[in-house]
Amino acid sequence: MKEPDIKLGIDRSISRRDFIGGVGVALSGSLTSCSWAESEVPVDPVLFADTRGSYPPIRTGLRGSHPGSFEVAHQLQQGKRWSEVEDTEESYDLVVVGGGLSGLSSAWFYQEAVPGARILILDNHDDFGGHAKRNEFWHGDRMLLSHGGTINIENFNKYGDAAQRMIRSLGINPGRYAEFFDRDLHRSHNLRRGVFFNRETFGTDRLVAGRGEPSWGKFLAKTPLSGVAREDITRLYESNTDYLAGFNQEQKRDRLRGMSYQDFLIDLAGVNPESLAILQSDGYWAIGMDALSAWTAVSDGAPGTQGLGFKGNDDERAAYFRFPDGNASIARLLVRAMLPAVAPGTRLDDIVGARFDYNQLDRTNSQVRIRLDSTVVSVRHLGNPQTAREVEITFVRDGRAQRIRAGRTVLACYNSMIPYLCEELPEAQKRALSQSLKAPLIYTSVMIRNWQAFVNLGVNYVHCPGSYFNSIGLSPPISIGDYHHAKSPAEATIVNMYRVPLAPGLPAQEQWKAGRYDLLTTTFETFERNIRDQLGRILSPGGFDPARDIEAITVNRWPHGYAYGQDSETGEIAYQPGEVPPERAPWLAARRPFGRISIANSDAGANAMSEAAIGQAHRAVMELVSA
Ligand SMILES: Cc1cc2nc3c(=O)[nH]c(=O)nc-3n(C[C@H](O)[C@H](O)[C@H](O)COP(=O)(O)OP(=O)(O)OC[C@H]3O[C@@H](n4cnc5c(N)ncnc54)[C@H](O)[C@@H]3O)c2cc1C
Repeated sequence: MKEPDIKLGIDRSISRRDFIGGVGVALSGSLTSCSWAESEVPVDPVLFADTRGSYPPIRTGLRGSHPGSFEVAHQLQQGKRWSEVEDTEESYDLVVVGGGLSGLSSAWFYQEAVPGARILILDNHDDFGGHAKRNEFWHGDRMLLSHGGTINIENFNKYGDAAQRMIRSLGINPGRYAEFFDRDLHRSHNLRRGVFFNRETFGTDRLVAGRGEPSWGKFLAKTPLSGVAREDITRLYESNTDYLAGFNQEQKRDRLRGMSYQDFLIDLAGVNPESLAILQSDGYWAIGMDALSAWTAVSDGAPGTQGLGFKGNDDERAAYFRFPDGNASIARLLVRAMLPAVAPGTRLDDIVGARFDYNQLDRTNSQVRIRLDSTVVSVRHLGNPQTAREVEITFVRDGRAQRIRAGRTVLACYNSMIPYLCEELPEAQKRALSQSLKAPLIYTSVMIRNWQAFVNLGVNYVHCPGSYFNSIGLSPPISIGDYHHAKSPAEATIVNMYRVPLAPGLPAQEQWKAGRYDLLTTTFETFERNIRDQLGRILSPGGFDPARDIEAITVNRWPHGYAYGQDSETGEIAYQPGEVPPERAPWLAARRPFGRISIANSDAGANAMSEAAIGQAHRAVMELVSA
């Protein structure tokens, strides 16, 4: 092992599966042709076997889209069909494909509408929840939690009536968040937001705490940025210039929709290109400023747009809620509500600490069952779709194709996969389905021995323009029930590190394809080396030693992350709902019910947020029930 790797602690034993990096990755030629399956990673039997038998939330290493979860789907896309299918003779009132928030909510709404219905949920992962996954760590006898994907209820007021009703029935009351979130802890240590300037981009490694404080001018004076960049950035943040003066609001909106935020900054705001690096966002939209529309940047209140006369999306009365394991607790509440044998308790306060018995998920005598590690490869009506009474579903589990039947089916999986599953769909609908987009992201949870270095440096969150990870941050201090966050800087905690793999300069769709390729071909060792290097460079002036202080790493890969729509006429990305007129919104045609099949998932709303996943589940179930 090389000297720098030893310093970083690559040789140290941590909680991870060391052999993951050894899994070979064979890339197929389909990279450019398909949005959901760009690579084929062969199943490693040892690795796959290792993911069974233990409690899925505590598994570390490569998680999210973990090895063993996606290979069958990619084989399907590449033309494989399963001719030997075992008939299980199982039959259900409803089969749901996909156990994410949308699939779980579909089952919940169906059970509400048709009490006593027998329901099976199939998912290709070894844990339920889709993006809403829990990362659980143990430090001695203390449990530490983090979100593996979906973080929060960003604004409960934006949830539709059915979604609000479901969330409330589960016991979640966003009004209680203040009870759980310790707003004084980080303040008491004077922790603020900071920016890390790396030597590759800015010529020197430097962390500057107190982003924008006490003024942009004073903050920027401490950074390695040139005088020109400092002036540009101060002007963008602090002046109210209208860079589209002379246009009415409608004309402004049209112009902003047709240009990237980067072009807005250079062409209209007159920003020097060298100032751009620091203005890159921390990845909120899973795309860089070169492909994000200036209009979307306006809705975000991005610097330089405040003088244009539009109101941003910021809702000061937003009803926010967050669990220590993110929206995984919503998934767990749903599962416990439908399968009470899986975990004790009935309340919000006891869900976080509850240990789930995964052996209860798929019991013959349960009304609702969840079958994991099962990839659906075919869904078809038994007979004419308009008159058939049953749907046949084939899934692959442990390499064996198995057949079941259902009275009705909700497809709550990635919509761009549905044409491969459901070959009987009309061609126009298949085309519309294949236009749904997903942006890739990587959410990493790192357990560290203590957070004294953050206190010494005065930061709790660091934006890292130009670095491998776009940001690093301490997990927020949230305690619910018998789960308690780290109170003292001497205690172990979780650091969250986010990366959006992109290829700047290409159209957004191409960047996401390239990002998926990057995400699935990067070995755990490479992620680990980058994690150790970046944390070391930012935090070691505060006493952090990556070799000594990192105790566990979970890299959650989300190759099919945020759901977006696209304008079928212009090809422009619809980052937010309502940006495309209905006649040019392909997801509306894509989600039409077909016989006994209806279509959910956040894709069906072309909206990345959890409220869309739940709202689309409700619509899909109502279509089936009312048909
Ligand atoms: C990293 C990340 C962070 C996010 N953060 C937030 C946030 O903070 N707040 C918020 O509101 N929203 C957030 N979102 C969006 C939110 O997570 C999603 O809207 C929602 O969770 C999506 O749920 P879903 O059920 O529609 O899809 P998914 O969660 O993708 O679930 C679909 C499931 O179907 C499975 N599946 C696919 N094909 C098959 C098949 N053939 N057979 C069996 N199973 C299949 C998939 O593997 C997956 O498990 C985030 C998304 C990501 C990726």
